[in-house]
Amino acid sequence: MRALRRLLRGAGVVLVLLLAVLGAGALSGPGGLPWAVPVTALPGVLPAPPAPPPPVPEKPRDRPTPAHEAADVPLGVPLAPPPEGGTHAFTTLQADGVTPVAYDPCRPIHYAINGLGAPVDGEPLVHAAVARIAEVTGLRFVYDGASDEPLLVDRPVYQPERYGDRWAPVLIGWQTEQEEPALAGDVIGQAGSAAVSLGDGPTVYVTGTVVLDAPQITPVLERRGGRAVVEAIVLHELGHLVGLAHVDDDGQLMYPEVQPELTDLAAGDLTGLARLGAGPCVPEL
Ligand SMILES: [Zn+2]
Repeated sequence: MRALRRLLRGAGVVLVLLLAVLGAGALSGPGGLPWAVPVTALPGVLPAPPAPPPPVPEKPRDRPTPAHEAADVPLGVPLAPPPEGGTHAFTTLQADGVTPVAYDPCRPIHYAINGLGAPVDGEPLVHAAVARIAEVTGLRFVYDGASDEPLLVDRPVYQPERYGDRWAPVLIGWQTEQEEPALAGDVIGQAGSAAVSLGDGPTVYVTGTVVLDAPQITPVLERRGGRAVVEAIVLHELGHLVGLAHVDDDGQLMYPEVQPELTDLAAGDLTGLARLGAGPCVPEL
């Protein structure tokens, strides 16, 4: 037990946030100046026909066609949080300084798993944790299957050649601290999401990454009761993915160090996740 505690101490998570603010100018059409200067008709001279508008150069696409899979209403409802509430914190807030940045609840969050280096039984464990986050937030998650996309924290949010005309799915996978220096030392995972906004609209998460330290997690899985501990680690990382930050309250799963006795979300975690499941729908993205 001592070794386990030592192993799990300080299992903090480096937060990754890419804030890609997309300019509204990309959406405005040609306007203002007329295409051709009018030609004054002279006696006996026909005016020249107006010149055709010059071709608009195609801009490189930095985002998918809007509203992919977007419904008119949220796809689910968050679980009612405990009435007493609890300690929680959000990674990013909207411009109002109060409302948390969240995923769009009106469309599913797709996720893919890069199984390279995964421990035995690693994948079902991820699905179980995703199901728990989905239940609590009301956000709908859809598993896209395996992906061989390299697990980089600053991966592009839009990869049409790999995933088609939509935001890239959340990518979950396993690495060693040699592959991912952010996992050095006691760090056992890292997760975060990329937020985008358009013009004055709300900021919204569109995709993210969860990286789990396979060499540290594998021996925990092999211990008695280890599966529940690892599932809690994945839950903690998924909490980051959907927008929860660490709290200085060791009664919550979002405490920065893993506590083997705490294997599920606590009151503060549930309170924060309920708000993260009730974000605005953003069909313009
Ligand atoms: Zn963390």
